[in-house]
Amino acid sequence: MKHEALFYQTEKGNKVSCHLCPHRCVIADGKLGYCGVRKNIDGKLFSMIYGRVSSACADAIEKKPLYHFFPGSYTFSIGSLGCNMRCGHCQNWQIAHSRIDNSDRDTSYISPEELVRRTMENGCKGISWTYNEPTIWLEYAIDGAKLAKKKGLYTVFVTNGYIEPDALDAIGPFLDAYRVDIKGFGSYVAKDSSGTDIKTSDELQDSRHCFYRDVTGIKSVRPILDAAVRAKSKWNMHVEIITNVVPGYNDDTEELHDIARWIVQNLGSETPWHVSRFHPYLELSHVPSTPVSTLETAREIGTEEGLKYVYIGNVPGHEWENTYCHNCGKMLIERAGFTVRAFEIRDGMCTNCNARIPIVGGFG
Ligand code: SF4
Repeated sequence: MKHEALFYQTEKGNKVSCHLCPHRCVIADGKLGYCGVRKNIDGKLFSMIYGRVSSACADAIEKKPLYHFFPGSYTFSIGSLGCNMRCGHCQNWQIAHSRIDNSDRDTSYISPEELVRRTMENGCKGISWTYNEPTIWLEYAIDGAKLAKKKGLYTVFVTNGYIEPDALDAIGPFLDAYRVDIKGFGSYVAKDSSGTDIKTSDELQDSRHCFYRDVTGIKSVRPILDAAVRAKSKWNMHVEIITNVVPGYNDDTEELHDIARWIVQNLGSETPWHVSRFHPYLELSHVPSTPVSTLETAREIGTEEGLKYVYIGNVPGHEWENTYCHNCGKMLIERAGFTVRAFEIRDGMCTNCNARIPIVGGFG
């Protein structure tokens, strides 16, 4: 369904500039933005995917992955078409790399009211915007999230985090959880106290890969980091981070240390960090699967930097898909894939030592 977009400005010559994400596309009349789903029609910008759902199903919240947010619950998961990144190894490329002018993917319209109704009918505790990038259909996500909150449902973005601050602020009051990728750190540009760059992506280019530049189609991780901090500090969202560790691209120990240190310093030591296994796919078919030992090293790096909850993902049965008490070491949540098999937290505390465990929402 066509819906006039938020966050755009009319420019000379019937062009529009979209301010939803840091691409800041300037779009000529009749054309689409980089994400392939926002179109300039006669000098006005429209979302062409309002309520246009390509995938919908009830998923375990652990699948997102969110491990410290309503564990054991089911979440109604929906996605549309398009994305504002072009990751060469995207698992959902059939929908994420689609443009509305060339997609043969079946979609159906689900109104925000129907979305909430289906969520409740399916016994889900909330809604997750996932599968493709939620930011690019923000108009729909805002309307759905507002209704969801009125019905006591939780709301989740599973996001690449490439969003402008004003856009995040528009959904901030209605969003409970923000599961964001930090895919790499090579493009990070730090500022000193005077605002001067002290590390540039060019300087880093020789020393290591820059994942965002090399694989995703964007130049810098900085807007993603800024948005994650804003989600937590301004909107009090529950934030979990995932890094898919790709051999030769983002697995050097210095880079993993940088990511983990940044999380501790900016989001806090209780922020869950998921380091997940990559398998060869699409444009990265030549890259081998991540050795489990690399993920174990990444987990140790996270712990060394001070993170209390670092999880290994995409390795079914690994001991580090479980949650352990940071204080006494007792296993508190036993997982088998996306299933919670045991839950040993009562009133937010470890049943063994009574340490407070940062989990949002009850079990199941
Ligand atoms: S949301 Fe789409 S059209 Fe808007 S700036 Fe981002 S990529 Fe461009």
